[in-house]
Amino acid sequence: MSAPWQKDGYEAVIGLEIHVQLSTLSKMFCSCPNRFGDAPNTNTCMVCLAYPGALPVANAEAVRQATRVGLALGCTIPDASEFSRKQYFYPDSPKAYQISQYDQPMCGEGVFVVPGADGFSVRLTRAHLEEDAAKMIHAGGDAGRISGSAGSVVDFNRGGTPLLEIVTEPDLRSPEDARRFLTLLRATVIAIGASDCDMEKGSLRADGNVSIRPIGSTEYGTKTELKNMNSFRFLERGIEAELERQVRIVTGGGVVEQETLHFDPASGALSSLRSKEQAHDYRYFPEPDLLPVRQDRSQLERLADGLPELPAARFERLVDAGLTEPTALALAIDTELAAYLGELADRTGDLRSSANWVMGELSAHLNAAGISAAASPVTPERLAGLVALVAAGTINQTAAKEVFGVLVDDAAAVAATVVDERNLAAMADGDALLAIIDAVLAANPAEVEAFRGGRQQVIGFLVGQCMKQSGGRADAKALQGLLRDRLAS
Ligand SMILES: [Zn+2]
Repeated sequence: MSAPWQKDGYEAVIGLEIHVQLSTLSKMFCSCPNRFGDAPNTNTCMVCLAYPGALPVANAEAVRQATRVGLALGCTIPDASEFSRKQYFYPDSPKAYQISQYDQPMCGEGVFVVPGADGFSVRLTRAHLEEDAAKMIHAGGDAGRISGSAGSVVDFNRGGTPLLEIVTEPDLRSPEDARRFLTLLRATVIAIGASDCDMEKGSLRADGNVSIRPIGSTEYGTKTELKNMNSFRFLERGIEAELERQVRIVTGGGVVEQETLHFDPASGALSSLRSKEQAHDYRYFPEPDLLPVRQDRSQLERLADGLPELPAARFERLVDAGLTEPTALALAIDTELAAYLGELADRTGDLRSSANWVMGELSAHLNAAGISAAASPVTPERLAGLVALVAAGTINQTAAKEVFGVLVDDAAAVAATVVDERNLAAMADGDALLAIIDAVLAANPAEVEAFRGGRQQVIGFLVGQCMKQSGGRADAKALQGLLRDRLAS
């Protein structure tokens, strides 16, 4: 766990509600395409527009994916679950109720572990399957918000798409841990292919339940709900701002009201959307048009066995193999990058130096080019050739970076050929290096005297000068050794 958030004698209590849009081909209760970016109101039918008498049919693939997410997150999967109607009246819901789940969700309690030296675990309350609401577009207003807009229109393409709502217990104690938890949870859902979890497109949306209490207390204070924080940074900042606001209210003698808040990342301000509804306000009752979903135990076992390596397990494996925690985490949450590393390490036989390349030059290149590891022009095979040249001492790191640049620019280039053509082979030959060293020492008598007088750090300057004279080709290790010998004599 990171350091708990505390201020003026109060500590943070945070839970999250995460909505994940499942990547199924069709919607939750009809056969309309589940697709982002089409012309408004083209992916609609009698069911998702709620024509009278139209009947829903549950999407088996959505049930399967929801179950896989539950298994991957460590939830129990009950034998049966049931759909319920959640009544609310708003233009984004043409039926005036949402088909959701209430007392019999698809996935039950679980514990999700964020691994690492400062790892922690978060209890999951449940994960239930429901249909998404349509998208409201508030035209002519300020940044698409309803306040001040000239009018609102509704796009029903999103209405009825399958949504899994994952609810945590209030186990998080800092905005930073909330971000870390969500980062790993998102990576887990992506790793199993259940959703792309693109926060910008809204296929992953997180709400925060935030409260404070006196440090050491075991009671919970009144919580507020922060809606739809659409990036990790906004999630962290929004929760932080709300904690600050609550401490200001309580230390000023006031009382925190239960309400739903909107965080404006531009101004950092929190505004009230509405007072929070209680569950009974929604008048849940069992959906009479859908049968309960029954889970088959042997099918559940097959689904569990079929899950790929999950990010938390990958993190543990990479740390055990000798990588640092930050490196292991970066690889654990990026399945493509981890697959790239796996292939590279298989070829080089050296996980650590392979990881250095993947996290260093390769990642810098991928980020600059805006491409993923799978699309990299420098394939694991080509990079392995370069890593082998460094390992064999044929070239030094400086030359290796130059070769990497050539591999990026020229898809046909082969590392060993580039080294020959550009005469980049390391100068490890003693006589050649000694000639350079002697010339450098002769040109820098003051530094030589300073070193011999005990200023050890001068050696860095002298190494740099020799490296420059060698055109960057000197073998750094051999150079250091020879230089020290020379200075000692
Ligand atoms: Zn439809």
